[in-house]
Amino acid sequence: MTAKLVQGYEVVIGFETHTQLSTQSKIFSRASVAFGAEPNTQACAVDMALPGTLPVMNEGAVQRAIEFGLAINAHIAERSVFARKNYFYPDLPKGYQISQFEIPVVQGGEVSFFMEEGQETVRKTVRLERAHLEEDAGKSLHEDFIGQSGIDLNRAGTPLLEIVTQPDMRSSDEAVAYAKELHKIVTWIGICDGNMQEGSFRCDANVSVRKPGAELGTRREIKNLNSFKFMQQAIDYEVLWQIDQIEDGRTIQQATVLFDPDTGETRAMRTKEDAADYRYFPDPDLPPLVIGRDWVERVKSEMAELPRVMAERFVRDYALPEYDATQLTQSKAVAAYFEATAKACGQPKLASNWIMGEVSRRLNTREMAIEQAPVSAAQLAALIGRISDNTISNNAARQVFDALWTEGGEVDAIIEAKGLKQMNDTSELEKIIDEVLAANPKNVEEFKAGNTKALNGLVGPIMKASKGKANPGQVNALLMKKLG
Ligand code: ADP
Ligand code: MG
Repeated sequence: MTAKLVQGYEVVIGFETHTQLSTQSKIFSRASVAFGAEPNTQACAVDMALPGTLPVMNEGAVQRAIEFGLAINAHIAERSVFARKNYFYPDLPKGYQISQFEIPVVQGGEVSFFMEEGQETVRKTVRLERAHLEEDAGKSLHEDFIGQSGIDLNRAGTPLLEIVTQPDMRSSDEAVAYAKELHKIVTWIGICDGNMQEGSFRCDANVSVRKPGAELGTRREIKNLNSFKFMQQAIDYEVLWQIDQIEDGRTIQQATVLFDPDTGETRAMRTKEDAADYRYFPDPDLPPLVIGRDWVERVKSEMAELPRVMAERFVRDYALPEYDATQLTQSKAVAAYFEATAKACGQPKLASNWIMGEVSRRLNTREMAIEQAPVSAAQLAALIGRISDNTISNNAARQVFDALWTEGGEVDAIIEAKGLKQMNDTSELEKIIDEVLAANPKNVEEFKAGNTKALNGLVGPIMKASKGKANPGQVNALLMKKLG
C-alpha cells in the first residue's frame, strides 16, 4: 500500500519497538542474558523477585540508551525516573515491571529514510516520541506440559529499550520502511543484535483509519511482530478489517490484537488497558537516573560514524546522489565494500552503480550478505578500470563479472580468454564500416537526405560484424566522418 487512500480512508500508524540491548547481564541484576539456556538457569534472586532483593542499574544499558539518543538526534534527559508498572501475570513474579513512565531517558528525535512512491523516490521522516529503559518479563511455556504451564524466568530482567514513534506513518509500506531503518540504526551502532527470530527486535504496530481530515480514529495495537513480512501482512489485513467494521456501521474498540501467520488474520487478545490501570508510580528502590553532560560527550566522541553521517560524507567526498549514498550505507559491510571499490578504481559513481545493480541483484536472489560475495572489491575495481579505459564495453563487462562471480579469476585474464577486448584499432574498424556502408546504400542515402534514424540501420550491422567488440563511441565518430 502506498500513501494513497484505501477505499477512501487514510491509514495512521504509530510504532512501539522493543529492542533487546546487547549487554552481557540483565538490567538490574548480574544474571546472564545469553539466549537459549535451560529454563531458569539464568534467573537470580533479583529476577525471581525474592523478598529483600534490590535492583541495581546496569551502566551498559544506560550507555546504549545514550548511544541511541545520539544516533537519532534526540534529547537525552539529564534526570529520568524508573517507575513501577503494576499488573499481574504468571511470568512477572514481582507483580510489576520496572519501566520509565513520565520522564523517559530519550526524548524526541527522528528517523528518516527513502522509499519508493509510484515512480518517485521520496524521503520520509518519522518523529519519535520517546525511548525508555525497562526490563523484560519471563516466559510462560505451554508446549512441554500437559494440562499445566511452566514459567521460565531466564528472560526476566533482560534490558529493553522501548522506542515509541508519533503516529506519523501513512501506509504499511512506510511502516515497514521505518522498521527496517530503525533496525539498521540499532544494529549499526551495536546496541542490539537485531535477531528478530530470537525476539531481540519486536514491533507493536498501532493502527487506525480515518476519513481524510477527520480526527484520529481509534487504534488497535498489533503485538510482537517479529518479521518484516508479517508486519506488512498484519497491517494490511488490519486496515481492511477496520474499514469493513466502520462501513458496516460498527465502531472500533481499542484493543490489543495478535497476528496469526497461518491464517493471515489479526485477532483480539484483550481490550486495551489505559495507563491509569497500571497504577504507575516512581520505583522507591531505584534513585532517579542521572546522566551528566560529560558522559554524553564522552559517548559521542567514542561512537562510530553513523549511517546518515556516512551517507552525507559519501555525497560530499564521492559526489554521489543522496539516494546512492543512502543505499550504500544500508550496512557497514556494504559501505566498506563500496569505499574499497571506489578508492581502488577512482570511479565512485560507477562503483555505486555496479554495487547497487549487479552485485545487489545477485546477492538478493541468493539471500547472501555482501561479506559472502564471490567478487571482491579489488576485482570489481579492476573490472571498472577496464570499462573506463575503454578496454571493454559495458556489455562485455557484464560477461566478465559473471565469470568472476561463478568461476573466479582475474579480470584481464578473463577478458583475454573470452576475447572481449574492444576493437580500438581504427583501421580494422574502418574496414568493417566501409563494408557495411557499401552493403547498405539505401540507409546511407536516407541519412544524407536528413533522416538521422537511418544511422541505426548502419550501427547495428557494424556492431554485429565486429562481434560486439567495436567501441560504440568510436563507431559513431567514424561514421559521422565518413558520411560527412
Ligand atoms: P500507550 O502508551 O497506551 O500504548 P501511546 O499514546 O503512548 O499509548 O501510543 C502508543 C503508540 O500508538 C504510539 O506509537 C503512537 O504514535 C500510536 N498512536 C497513538 N494514537 C494512535 C492512533 N489514533 N492511530 C494510530 N497510532 C496511534
Ligand atoms: Mg504501549
